Amino acid sequence: MKNFNFIFAMAFVAALTVLFASCKKDMIETSPAEYVFTPEELAEINENFCSTMDEYDFNDHSEEAGNGSVEERGTGAKGKFWPAGQVLRVRFQNGSSTLQNKVFNYAKTWANYANVSIVKVTSGNSEIRVKFGTVGNNSYVGTDNLNIAQSLQTMNLELTDNSSESSIRRASLHEFGHALGLKHEHQNPYASISWDKPKVYAYFAQQGWSQQKVDEQVINTLGWGPAQHTSFDVQSVMAYSIPASLTTNGFSIPWNTELSALDKEFIGKMYSGVRIRVRHAANINGNITIYLNGVTTTLTKNETIYVPAKTTGNTLQIWECPSGCMWSSFYPSYGTKYKIVSASNNANDLKLVQD
Ligand SMILES: [Zn+2]
Repeated sequence: MKNFNFIFAMAFVAALTVLFASCKKDMIETSPAEYVFTPEELAEINENFCSTMDEYDFNDHSEEAGNGSVEERGTGAKGKFWPAGQVLRVRFQNGSSTLQNKVFNYAKTWANYANVSIVKVTSGNSEIRVKFGTVGNNSYVGTDNLNIAQSLQTMNLELTDNSSESSIRRASLHEFGHALGLKHEHQNPYASISWDKPKVYAYFAQQGWSQQKVDEQVINTLGWGPAQHTSFDVQSVMAYSIPASLTTNGFSIPWNTELSALDKEFIGKMYSGVRIRVRHAANINGNITIYLNGVTTTLTKNETIYVPAKTTGNTLQIWECPSGCMWSSFYPSYGTKYKIVSASNNANDLKLVQD
C-alpha cells in the first residue's frame, strides 16, 4: 500500500530540518531604534504594509471563531474561505465614485479566477464594507467578515483620489485577497526568510508596530496547522514587499501589484467544487499533513477537511513525522470520501481508506 519515493522523502527531510530550525522562537531581545532608514524605505513603510484585522485592531476577534460547517472548513486560512459560488456584496462607506469604481474593478479581478461573484451594493446587507481612512490598509479574513456588525467597516483602505494607480491596484487586490480568505504569503509555512530581526523590528516600529505585532504579521510563519497553501510564492500580491536590507542574505521581494500565476491558480482551486473529503482518523494525536493537487493541508486529530482535487488522476501524499518523516502516496477518486487510519501500531504507518 505504501509507495515511498525515497529521494523525494530525503529531500523533504532535509528541507524540513532547515524549516524547523528557522521556525524556532527567537528569544533574543533587541533594541528597535538603531537602524537608519533610507527615504525610500520610509516611503514604502507608509504605504506598503497591511495587517489583517483579526490580529489587529477594531476588536479582539479570535482566530478560533467561525465554527463553520464541515463544508466551510477545509479551506484556506483553514475554515475561512467562503463556499464555492459565494456572492460577496461590497458596500463602500465613503469615497468618491471614481475611487470606489477603481477599487471595485480591481477587486473583481479575483472573480475571474475564483468561483465567486463580487457585486457592489449601495444599501442593505453586505459581506464586505470598505472605508477609506487613515488607519492603514487592512481587512478581516474570509468568513470572519460575517462576524462584524453591518454598521461597521470590514476593510480599511488608506487611499485617496490622489493615490497612484499602482497603489490602488496593489491595495485593492491584496485586501480583497484577505476578504476571500487568503493570508500573507511571506508567512507561508514553506517560507524560510532569513530576517535581520533588529532591522525588521526597527523598520516596522516606524509605523508604530510592537515587536509582538511584527512577529505575528511579518516574521512568524502561520505554522502548519492553520494554513492551507502552495509552495512559497514570492510573486504573490499577498506577500509583503521585503527590502534586501531586512534580510541577512540579500533575499528580497518587490512590491507586487498584480495577481501572480500562483495567486490565480490557488484561488481557483480553493473555490473549485472539485474537492475530496479527507478525515484524520488515525490512532495518533499529532497533526497529519497531506499534499494533493499542488496544495498542502494539515489536519488536526479528528479534523475533516475538503481539499482541492482534479476530476481524474489524483495523487495524494500523506506525511507525518513522529517516527521519521515519510511520504506515502495514494490515488483517491474524486467524489469519494476518505479517512486516514493507522495501518499498524507503528504511528508512522498511515493509509488512506474510504470513509
Ligand atoms: Zn495584508
